[in-house]
Amino acid sequence: MVEQLKKSVRDVPDFPKKGILFKDITTLCKEPSMFVRMVDMMAHRHIGKKIDLVVGIEARGFVVGSALAYKLGAGIVLVRKPGKLPHKTHQASYTLEYGKDTLEIHQDAIQPGQNVIIADDLLATGGTAGAVAKLVEQMGGNIIECSFIIELDELKGREKLSPHPVFSLMSF
Ligand code: AMP
Repeated sequence: MVEQLKKSVRDVPDFPKKGILFKDITTLCKEPSMFVRMVDMMAHRHIGKKIDLVVGIEARGFVVGSALAYKLGAGIVLVRKPGKLPHKTHQASYTLEYGKDTLEIHQDAIQPGQNVIIADDLLATGGTAGAVAKLVEQMGGNIIECSFIIELDELKGREKLSPHPVFSLMSF
């Protein structure tokens, strides 16, 4: 089943920079049966648990994050690129596989003690999700899991997210 999902991810060489093999999930998400299966498999372990919020990371993390939140009866929180969120924010800067960036979250997005899943399409070096995990922790959120569709094993992002539990549906 996972093999079928893996096959529907498209490899795009040299995007957005030379030397990066971009894992394109649009080919997976546009297939109704694949998309449903993907969300079901990511949500499965948490059904019946108390998950308050899913934190989705701009932009592909919104796709997987909001579907996961709906499935789990949780709220969805948006972590966005600078200047996009309208209210007061907390910020975190981080390094990613192809550059540097800053992310923002609304200051009132998470209440202390809320159970949170962090969601994105792909775990590479772990810089992005690590920065989001720090924000969630600073706000008093309880990180239940960092969830990804794809994990790039050799970049060891999982280690950077330690001690938080990491789930990925497929790895390359
Ligand atoms: P990192 O911070 O290194 O774990 O990078 C993860 C973030 O960058 C995620 O938001 C991904 O969408 C994006 N990303 C990094 N590398 C790739 C890749 N090879 N293919 C697709 N997206 C990537």
